[in-house]
Amino acid sequence: MYRNEIVGERTLERLPELIPNDAEDGMVVVGTTSYEASGAAERIQNAINIQLKQFVAPSPNPSLEGIYPGLNIVKKERPDVVIGVGGGSVLDTAKALSVLPNQSGSPKEYLSGDKSPKCASTPLIAIPTTAGTGSETTHFATIYVGNTKFSLAGTPVYPTGSIVDHTLIKSVPKSVRATTGIDALSQAIESYWSVKSTPASRATAARAIKLAWEYLEQEVTDPTDESRQALATAAYLAGRSIDISKTTACHSVSYPLTAKFDVVHGAAVALTVPAFLLFNSNVSVNDCNDPRGPSFVSKRFTELSNLLGTDSPKHAAEQFTDILSRIGLPTTLTDAGVSDIEIIVKEGFTPERMENNPRKINEDQLRELLYSLN
Ligand code: NAD
Repeated sequence: MYRNEIVGERTLERLPELIPNDAEDGMVVVGTTSYEASGAAERIQNAINIQLKQFVAPSPNPSLEGIYPGLNIVKKERPDVVIGVGGGSVLDTAKALSVLPNQSGSPKEYLSGDKSPKCASTPLIAIPTTAGTGSETTHFATIYVGNTKFSLAGTPVYPTGSIVDHTLIKSVPKSVRATTGIDALSQAIESYWSVKSTPASRATAARAIKLAWEYLEQEVTDPTDESRQALATAAYLAGRSIDISKTTACHSVSYPLTAKFDVVHGAAVALTVPAFLLFNSNVSVNDCNDPRGPSFVSKRFTELSNLLGTDSPKHAAEQFTDILSRIGLPTTLTDAGVSDIEIIVKEGFTPERMENNPRKINEDQLRELLYSLN
């Protein structure tokens, strides 16, 4: 399927190019404050001339319960286009609203993976106002049901168009710049070591890692136009790479950190990146998940260490922990407010994510890894 992705400064004004020619009305899915704060509201009103109904997405971490009112509006009004403008929570909500009302089964069946979305979606335009998730370019959306994380996945979930305009992230507060920026970097790192990585996904992930590694601290502490552009591009590239490779153990463990202890998504993923960098780099023939073998995986860890400006996974892990501290994010489970490691061990195994990790890990090893972060 052809997808039109527009990346660059003040490209939001090109939105009319992405709206279907015959569209008469649409639904814009927004965040509580980010639509106005980013300047998107005014710029979109000036750029387009179709009627837009507005739906405010539940945030953070959209739930099925929270998006039901939006699903009902789409079913009833059948907008010609859905436009998601916001952080990852908003974009994932917009994806669900564009896909689920067109399927024959119940929303839960598609979130649990019992059914794959088949029917065409309402055309979806994704416009990120944070530089982190890369959701504007992936074919999945994270939706919670109660406290459990589900993924809506499949070709119909791809946005038909997206706009990555870094001027929209200027209003993002410092703490969100840290959690979103580290999300982009962590996703690119996981993508690089993923079992499903390909030469193309690694090339894209490498570009994302270099940009995020160079500019993340500046973007958090003293942002400039250059750092905003670098992070917005890094997030988009990281999204493109995980779209191919998917994520691995750090994401698997992050889900209960977020669901049980409210650790913000990016911080939850990043918390275990240094420990998994070390753990995974010690892969052997007995515990290698990657069919390309342990020497293939080891070479990737040498490359990854070099991309992070170091000569070994140990130094790369130390540098990553340093940057977490410098941008004000937790480096230990205690700092992150996690009071019960056993619940993370119990709920941290999402099979699809763990099978995509280059080294097999069992419960005892995960427990040891987590206690090393206590
Ligand atoms: P978010 O969408 O929850 O937004 C974080 C905060 O930033 C919110 O309070 C929001 O109002 C505010 N904000 C957003 N843009 C702003 C702006 N321009 N100015 C001022 N404030 C602004 O956070 P996020 O990190 O972007 O997204 C996290 C979500 O994305 C999680 O639910 C995660 O699971 C999901 N995710 C999805 C994918 C995917 O490919 N679908 C990938 C990674 C993460």
